Amino acid sequence: METATDTQAQNNPFILKRSTPIAALNLTVEEYEHPDTGAVHLHLGCENSENVFMVALRTVPQDSTGVAHILEHTVLCGSERYPVRDPFFMMLRRSLNTFMNAFTSSDWTAYPFATQNTKDFSNLLSVYLDAVFFSRLDPLDFAQEGHRVEFEKDEVNGKDTLVFKGVVFNEMKGAMSSTSSILWDKLCYELFPTNTYHFNSGGDPEAIPDLSYQQLRDFYARHYHPSNAIFLTFGDIPAALHQRDFQELVLKRFSRSNESVEVTLEQLFLTPRVAEHDYAVDASEGLAKKTHHVMGWKLGESADLTAMLEAQVLSAVLMENSASPLMHYLETTELGSAPSPLCGVEESMREMVFCCGIEGSSPEVAAQFQQEVLGKLKEVADSGHRRRST
Ligand SMILES: [Zn+2]
Repeated sequence: METATDTQAQNNPFILKRSTPIAALNLTVEEYEHPDTGAVHLHLGCENSENVFMVALRTVPQDSTGVAHILEHTVLCGSERYPVRDPFFMMLRRSLNTFMNAFTSSDWTAYPFATQNTKDFSNLLSVYLDAVFFSRLDPLDFAQEGHRVEFEKDEVNGKDTLVFKGVVFNEMKGAMSSTSSILWDKLCYELFPTNTYHFNSGGDPEAIPDLSYQQLRDFYARHYHPSNAIFLTFGDIPAALHQRDFQELVLKRFSRSNESVEVTLEQLFLTPRVAEHDYAVDASEGLAKKTHHVMGWKLGESADLTAMLEAQVLSAVLMENSASPLMHYLETTELGSAPSPLCGVEESMREMVFCCGIEGSSPEVAAQFQQEVLGKLKEVADSGHRRRST
């Protein structure tokens, strides 16, 4: 005869890889793997009755159609067990959740929620897992969330004309009207010529209408698979109970996928590169004091903690405040009106990026700006940095 615990251990489809208590946070990090599919489960176990769940997938688009972002919206519009319109927004209103959302980043998409009620937790878990792994992806939902054409009266000639519409299309039209978003988008375009960061993962409004329904389905099939997923939980519900649900609701229907989804390392540049991009500006009186000049460098990998610490120290020494040498230069140079909003280290991508720049500059200052920034860096490298007394 088997005891209840034996049965549970034998039936548990996950294996524990390691368990690390973190005393300062009063929790234990448990790392599990699901051998049948390769799915990873990270459980942060603690005495907190607010339980958190997140499922995240590596998503690496190879164009700027916004496929990952449109998919993030569309998967939430009804699934196999919940074939209703907008189960996500219905739960948002009626559940006791303390947090519900979905995010698309440049190389991942995540669906998190939190609640203090265990019944609510299992309801939300069921809705989320079904949405992510068994979404309906109805063509009409794609048209609603992605893009479609509609007739609209032209304000000038009063005639009906066809215009592009769509939730993500409109969202990105708004997002890409900000100058700093365009700057960042173009900087990544130049720094990463060959991998996924070359593209606008949210979607470039000019490219969004190129996305077909079939491409959306293909992207879903390749990326939304347990072999490409990480499950994350936090709170006082034991990992084994979560794993029983993951297995029943999702994992038992999958086997390991042969697709490998990853971000490749970018090639190194052998010489500095200069690039010019446009943004919408009233140029009737010329471009004087209307341009932006930004310099960017790729640093080490963000998963390398030593490289990350070095990047943070470097950025702090150079740019922490007005007394830091590079920030002092950017704030006081006559070449621009203010430091660029892009200054600092960006750690969210596989390789980190350090950038600095000015806004309110004129087109012809590019070479001088570059020379002066490099001069500042050389000065700090040669003679160290002594804090200015302010
Ligand atoms: Zn969105």
